Amino acid sequence: MLPLKPFSSPLLGKRLISTWANVKQGPPDAILGVTEAFKRDKDPRKINLGVDGNGKPYVLPSVQKAEDLLYHQHGDKEYLPITGLGDFTKLAAKLAYGPSSKPLKEGRIAVTQSISGTGALRIGTAFFARHYPGAKAIYLPSPTWGNHIPIAKDAGLEVKSYSYFDKETVGLDFDGMKKDIRAAPDGSVILLHACAHNPTGVDPTHNQWKELSEIMLEKKHFPFFDMAYQGFASGDTDYDAFAVRHFVEKGHQVVLCQSFAKNMGLYSERVGAFSVVTASPEEKERVDSQLKIIVRPLYSNPPIHGARIAACILGSHDLNKQWLGEVKGMADRIISMRDALYDGLIQRNTPGEWGHVRSQIGMFSFTGLTPAQCDALAAKAHVYLTRDGRVSVAALNAGNIDYFAESVSKAVKGEL
Ligand code: PMP
Repeated sequence: MLPLKPFSSPLLGKRLISTWANVKQGPPDAILGVTEAFKRDKDPRKINLGVDGNGKPYVLPSVQKAEDLLYHQHGDKEYLPITGLGDFTKLAAKLAYGPSSKPLKEGRIAVTQSISGTGALRIGTAFFARHYPGAKAIYLPSPTWGNHIPIAKDAGLEVKSYSYFDKETVGLDFDGMKKDIRAAPDGSVILLHACAHNPTGVDPTHNQWKELSEIMLEKKHFPFFDMAYQGFASGDTDYDAFAVRHFVEKGHQVVLCQSFAKNMGLYSERVGAFSVVTASPEEKERVDSQLKIIVRPLYSNPPIHGARIAACILGSHDLNKQWLGEVKGMADRIISMRDALYDGLIQRNTPGEWGHVRSQIGMFSFTGLTPAQCDALAAKAHVYLTRDGRVSVAALNAGNIDYFAESVSKAVKGEL
């Protein structure tokens, strides 16, 4: 038998320059970077308010029940169709557009399952890049969820912005928003956060939505809705869908991205949907065929488990009722934390006007804290948040709210 030779490659030792030698170090993700810093901190008082989630591995009881039911059904693991689980996409559309939605009843909404809200946005922006007859640009609110920008750019759209937030009032800059939307060329694509705007927690009122719908009809603008928090804003899934339903009722041919990450707590299951309101069932078929052409080379077909959970909940009278109660519970808890934070800041005579902490809705609050105050909170108080002053209110609880209010108060007074 020949003696075994140690492995050697003719290139080994000669290839001094790696193929990837010129790959530059990319910047860390702004939100995940906060979590990294939080993990390194060993202080027991530390709080992570940078996260999207509630920071606690909590599974909704309705989700647990659905999983128990699914376990006993011993479902198969065959591939789903390209556009996903039909039961799920039908029910997701019903949840968003409402059971009495005209285009839904008329069978003219094309829906595809997606890899949560992010995947819906990626499919949606790709669909616009390929098929929108107007300019290949999308207007995003300023500020917006950070990932909107690379998603739209990766899909080949030009990114533009419209005013949204007024730093002075820590509220909606409605005049600026209307002015910018009016100034955009006719037929522009405008991305709208349907509810619980991330990162500001500031939404238009129902009357303001009505006005926006009129302006956008006049300008022939196209509403591209992102609804990542249905139910999470007010606790009521119908109330939170107001903007989408109103625009549809007024004749806009909306597109919509949905996520079940927050309202069902299905973060890592990656359950979402992208839908397009079309003019007829025949047009729907054509749009559907193009959605398949986008999805197929991206990931072929979506995962099944999360979609089965969501379909099980939305499709069962009892489980759906239970889930709606749990959504309300999550939203109410956040509202109570906002009240507690407001009270804590006022009781400590914290300089500034803090009403926005209460009036903003959804998971996030734009506190108005400066980058320097955010840095001081991390360095001196072990409290971590993104440097734009955004706080995930969902991460506050009875155990940390006092310490947080105390720390913010000190940061604002320059006492940290
Ligand atoms: N849109 C907005 C506005 C969001 O805040 C998020 C999550 N942070 C998403 C979409 C997508 O989330 P996911 O992919 O987890 O559903």
